[in-house]
Amino acid sequence: MSTFDYAPALESTAIVSIAERYGLFINGKFVAPKSGKYFPTINPATEKVLAKIASANSADVDLAVAAARAAYVKVWSKMPAAERGKYLFRIARIIQERSREFAVLESLDNGKPIRESRDTDIPLAAAHFFYHAGWADKLQYSGNGASPKPLGVVGQIIPWNFPMLMLAWKVAPALATGNTVVLKPAETTSLTALLFAEVCQQAGLPEGVVNIITGAGGTGALLVNHPGIDKVAFTGSTEVGKLIATSIAGSKKSATLELGGKAANIIYDDAAIDEAVEGIVNGIFFNQGHVCCAGSRLLVQENVHEEVLAKLKVRMGHIRLGNPLDKNTDIGAINSAAQLAKIKELSAAGDSEGAERWSAPCELPSQGFWFPPTIFTGVSQTHRIAREEIFGPVLSLLTFRTPQEAVEKANNTPYGLSAGIWTDKGSKILWTASKLRAGVIWANTFNKFDPASPFGGYKESGWGREGGRHGLSAYLKASN
Ligand code: NAP
Ligand code: MG
Repeated sequence: MSTFDYAPALESTAIVSIAERYGLFINGKFVAPKSGKYFPTINPATEKVLAKIASANSADVDLAVAAARAAYVKVWSKMPAAERGKYLFRIARIIQERSREFAVLESLDNGKPIRESRDTDIPLAAAHFFYHAGWADKLQYSGNGASPKPLGVVGQIIPWNFPMLMLAWKVAPALATGNTVVLKPAETTSLTALLFAEVCQQAGLPEGVVNIITGAGGTGALLVNHPGIDKVAFTGSTEVGKLIATSIAGSKKSATLELGGKAANIIYDDAAIDEAVEGIVNGIFFNQGHVCCAGSRLLVQENVHEEVLAKLKVRMGHIRLGNPLDKNTDIGAINSAAQLAKIKELSAAGDSEGAERWSAPCELPSQGFWFPPTIFTGVSQTHRIAREEIFGPVLSLLTFRTPQEAVEKANNTPYGLSAGIWTDKGSKILWTASKLRAGVIWANTFNKFDPASPFGGYKESGWGREGGRHGLSAYLKASN
């Protein structure tokens, strides 16, 4: 029998032009860093260097914060709200117009499949700007008093898993509410933020309203601790979130912290199993599992456990891993050598603690960072793979007998970002959702996002919400 396979369908990279070296975006211009230092950013699918990125030191952070302050005082806080909204609309339109360029650049720098950057990351980023553009002149209806005021200058720090989307989640609400920003993208994925800087220029955004400083964690710490900022908006690990909370304690700075997760995806025995299997795959293998709200703990009712597992393995056998720029690819590259090492370390802990590993049979490319889609069965609540965030394509499967037990197991975690429920009964969805301690709960679906819907966590998953009316409140001072 001849084997059936897909022909390669590579997205062209011709639309993207990457400079050899990037400066910092301060006061509306790209400038050489005072530090004089640059570091490489690589394509994780090939390990080839894409460009050199500036590393901002304290003198650079000073300049960026001063530019944001001047823009806030002289221009942005004085501008009529409807005018601010026009800039946001313009930015949203330009992101749409240049969406293919953004998508290709994101996949090159991050390693995520083009299908996801093209169909999810970039359209959602544009949607965030459109949504917040609409809010700019309606803030008096946002539930923050009759005349809510901006906070001032916001320091924003984002992770590498959804670089452009996380930028949009941060920048759009800040600008709509009249704040100015200094944003630090993640060290391994700065290129789309630097392309966004070009979009700000193209939109004619007043200089200094958005400043982008690149660098490693140390640059982020300089920004957090800078006396010239009024608020910190951070998305990243719980570990760094705790450091930030400690360092701003006692200051006047406010903070929103969007941190890690270890979501339960609960499959009841009356669920449509084939659909649930699709939801499980989407929940944990989307974006290589580099998702804070990934459904990384699968809780399956015991009497359907074997059926679910068998169907899941068949489905996982059809997942295509490989070149992120191939339109047929489902799983791309792991973002960095460090992240791959973390996934391997936690998976090895799963083996040594007695869980059973199964990986989908797939060939891993010889260059770059890769990990096959993997499930662990026989997992108990105490195993590290059931408690710690792996942030990779690794699923831990646990079972339960009663709804009560499902809820207890789901809530038995220091996190509380998201959860999924699969059942045929609406009443069971409502009963379960009301008992789960998670900020976002999906029912008979997973990983659905909308700018109008607030997103955020309980417990160690963070403080505050992003998106919707709740997200606006985090950038406003209420006043009458
Ligand atoms: P991370 O190590 O905490 O880094 C996040 C950002 O903080 C990066 O820009 C990082 O710079 C910077 N940073 C590192 N140390 C810092 C410090 N001491 N002070 C200030 N900034 C510092 O997290 P990550 O590994 O990039 O991202 C994965 C984590 O993000 C996961 O835990 C995931 O769950 C979480 N996440 C949460 C959400 C949410 O909405 N709740 C969304 C996405 C991701 P470098 O890049 O140079 O290290
Ligand atoms: Mg990179």
